[in-house]
Amino acid sequence: MKDSLKLKSFLEQAIQDRRLIIVSNREPYVHKKQGSEIRVEQPVGGLTSALDNVLRVIGGVWVAWGSGSADKRVVDRNNHVGVPPDKPTYTLKRVWLSSAEVDNYYHGYANHVLWPLCHIALERIYFRKKYWDDYVAANHKFAQAVSEEVKDKSMVWIHDYHLSLLPRVLRDANPSLTLAHFWHVPWPNYSVLRVSPHARELLEGMLANDLIGFQITHFAANFMDCVEQMIPEAEVDRETSTVTFHEHKTSLEAFPISVDFDRFNNMASSRHSEKFIRNFRKKLGIPDETLLAVGVDRLEYTKGLTKRIQAIELFFERYSRYRKRVTFYQVAVPTRSSEPYLSYMKGVQEIINHVNRRFGTDSWLPIIYTETKLEHRDLAAIYRAADLCIVSSIYDGMNLVAKEFISCQVDEKGVLLLSELAGAAEELEDAMIVNPYDLDSFSSSIKTALSLNRNDKKKRMHNLREKVSEFNIHVWIGCVLQRMSDIYSAKAGGTAYLFDHLEQIQSRELFLFLDFDGTLAPIASTPDKAVMPEHVKKMLNKLKKMMPIAIISGRALDDVRARVGISDLIYSGNHGMEIWNGSKMLRNEAGDVSMLGELLTKLQASLGKISGIIVENKKFSASVHFRRVPPKRLADVFRIFWDVTKNYDSFFDITEGKKVLEIRSKAAWNKGHAVEWILEKMGNEHYAVYIGDDVTDEDAFRAIQTKGASICVGKNPKADYFLKNQDEVGKFLEWLIIRGMFKALTP
Ligand code: UDP
Repeated sequence: MKDSLKLKSFLEQAIQDRRLIIVSNREPYVHKKQGSEIRVEQPVGGLTSALDNVLRVIGGVWVAWGSGSADKRVVDRNNHVGVPPDKPTYTLKRVWLSSAEVDNYYHGYANHVLWPLCHIALERIYFRKKYWDDYVAANHKFAQAVSEEVKDKSMVWIHDYHLSLLPRVLRDANPSLTLAHFWHVPWPNYSVLRVSPHARELLEGMLANDLIGFQITHFAANFMDCVEQMIPEAEVDRETSTVTFHEHKTSLEAFPISVDFDRFNNMASSRHSEKFIRNFRKKLGIPDETLLAVGVDRLEYTKGLTKRIQAIELFFERYSRYRKRVTFYQVAVPTRSSEPYLSYMKGVQEIINHVNRRFGTDSWLPIIYTETKLEHRDLAAIYRAADLCIVSSIYDGMNLVAKEFISCQVDEKGVLLLSELAGAAEELEDAMIVNPYDLDSFSSSIKTALSLNRNDKKKRMHNLREKVSEFNIHVWIGCVLQRMSDIYSAKAGGTAYLFDHLEQIQSRELFLFLDFDGTLAPIASTPDKAVMPEHVKKMLNKLKKMMPIAIISGRALDDVRARVGISDLIYSGNHGMEIWNGSKMLRNEAGDVSMLGELLTKLQASLGKISGIIVENKKFSASVHFRRVPPKRLADVFRIFWDVTKNYDSFFDITEGKKVLEIRSKAAWNKGHAVEWILEKMGNEHYAVYIGDDVTDEDAFRAIQTKGASICVGKNPKADYFLKNQDEVGKFLEWLIIRGMFKALTP
């Protein structure tokens, strides 16, 4: 109850008064005919049930293909049905597809072209023109259905590769709509994507989104490579991970999907679980002392089942003492019943039979194989009991089985053997990572995993469990929704363009506050390279005769004074901790920074090895800059940073700015305090104008809420106005000078 209230308030805060529309191929509830009755089924799947929970709490609409035999019977004339059926809280809107469309769009283009393409299984691509035609048609049908639902304040969240053209159709009809798309499977690199005759259309479709979420940064990087090669007129900015195409900007970000840790953990800890596993061992003839290794997959060629069995064969061949001491239990559930799946199934069965014939005895089967789907509560019991879980995907967006296994390892005694080609390997460093193609090392890793000592196993599994419990499915949804919400606010113009509202400033007595980096000086690759352009300096020299000016910076005071190079301005350094009035120091209060040196030494020692990291000691505060860190190392930077700083929680506050982490003492002032103080002492009767570009400027935006106008370089709902870029700051200063000259002429 407490958790659901927490979820509700968290979601309400993220969504505010906006209407969320989820779009996916599969629906969260399926109505089926059963004799004269209608039965409702909920497809099993972590994602569907997590998204269903979200809409149950906040309401909204879910648009999906109506695939059930009784789906048409229960909808109204808008194709709506209230769900969950027993106590409806949101609307499921169904899209109808003809059986030819299902064959061509879903089985054809989505599953026989895009799926193998994204998983680099080029030989398995089977492409027909009619597939593409119906893929286009189906995406238009979805677009029509979504458009009917879009009202004021709507945000649309699209899922997966079935709907890559949908964003473009929606964008053309509604230029200001907030559109986000999560791509659940890998995004391939250019030399793979170019195999598709429609690669450019796919990219153009996706670039109509405001936000594309990928499982890992590597897929976002692949996407940018593809755009660069195939749409030369698009502008790719790797620093901000954005693409601008036809004046529309798309952000590309990694949001590694996760599982409902608590749900799996609870299922695995239940009485059912203990009972199930006792029966399971008995029924399958696996004695308690025999080690249990498991594999749980859909019967799917991307899961590397053949490689796994080959490695198991080699393992028994090389390490004969493990014969009869370990049993591999493999679940492989068929979900597609056409070629190439039928041949793949036959291949898997044959190789398992071969291994069992080669090593099996009357009392022991090396591999027990089943194609029967298991319910999660039974799977949870098996995951808990297993000494080893093997995930050997030859390519995989994430792989949820890996995270489910971890969530169920309540006794922390099992080991996860994980393919480096699964997205999950990027986060789960404490798994034993293998290359499924390297059979010698794969088979020896099986042996190492089984023979690790109890403490090593426990330590690894404990770390893995901490990670998955922290980054669970609810956090994942929260992160995506929060980003969508921010994008919505920025687009909705919680801020207005300053040059459309100059009349607000025109006739007032101003006190001008200016941030330095990103406002007066362009952002540079490293902080020491930032230079304020000469023409800006000239303008400030003119303006200082017309109004009081204060430079408010996160840099140390001496540093920012030297960079601006005008002595008689007011300066505040170190985010408000130092204040100088043009001739003397008025205030310098850092709070307790006695631990700063020690913390920075530790950060330097642990982060210093990562290329591009700059740890800057500003005496009163510190900054860790990561602008030049390669994207694939960013996860390490954050992990190490939070790991080191967590022991200093009680001394320091940490804020994240643009590619920088700022460390300040708990009692330290921020920019907002400095602006308030300066206004109070030196200009209470003035109208404050503050221009800044970063998160740390938001304190100042807040501080002058009732005392003036806040202006952000780039859209930010927390400011009153925005300027498009740093160049426009110069234009505004120019306007202020002309305004001042006119004022002088017309007293
Ligand atoms: N699964 C299941 N019963 C089974 C086998 C698999 O419920 O007998 C579920 C498994 O728990 C997991 C999903 O199928 O949630 C497989 O997800 P994964 O990300 O590993 O692969 P995908 O199928 O999405 O490619």
